Amino acid sequence: MNTFDPGCIFCRIAAGEIPAKVVARTDHAIAFHDLTPKAPVHVLVIPTTHVGSTAELSGGEGEMLFGRIMALAVETAAQLGLAEDGYRLVINTGPHGGQSVGHLHVHLLGGRQMHWPPG
Ligand code: 5GP
Ligand code: ZN
Repeated sequence: MNTFDPGCIFCRIAAGEIPAKVVARTDHAIAFHDLTPKAPVHVLVIPTTHVGSTAELSGGEGEMLFGRIMALAVETAAQLGLAEDGYRLVINTGPHGGQSVGHLHVHLLGGRQMHWPPG
C-alpha cells in the first residue's frame, strides 16, 4: 500500500500522467468517468495510492482507505444527481470477479434501471 506503480494505468491517472474526466477528488481518492461507460453515468472511484484489489485491504489502514473511497463514491453519486433514483456500486475482485485493471476501483453506475442478478 501507499506506493505508485508506474506500470499501473490508474496510478498514472491519479498522478495526472494520463488524462481522465475527473469528477471529484480528495486527498486520498479520485473519481473519474469510465472510458467505456456501461450506463448513462459510469464513474470509477479509486484510492490515489496503489492497492491491487479488495484482497489487499487489511487492518486499520485498509479499513480507513476503504471507507474513504466508499464515502467519495456516495458523495459523487449525490453530486451527479443520482441519490433520489438510486445507483449501483460494484467492486470486481480477481478473475472470477471480472477485475481487468489491477488497482482497486469502485464502479458507480446510474442513470438507468439496473438488473439483478448481475452476470
Ligand atoms: P474492472 O473490469 O477492472 O472492474 O473495471 C475496469 C474499468 O476501467 C472498465 O470499466 C474500463 O472501461 C475502465 N478503464 C480501463 N482503462 C481505462 C482508462 O484508461 N481510462 C478510464 N477512464 N477508464 C478505463
Ligand atoms: Zn495503481
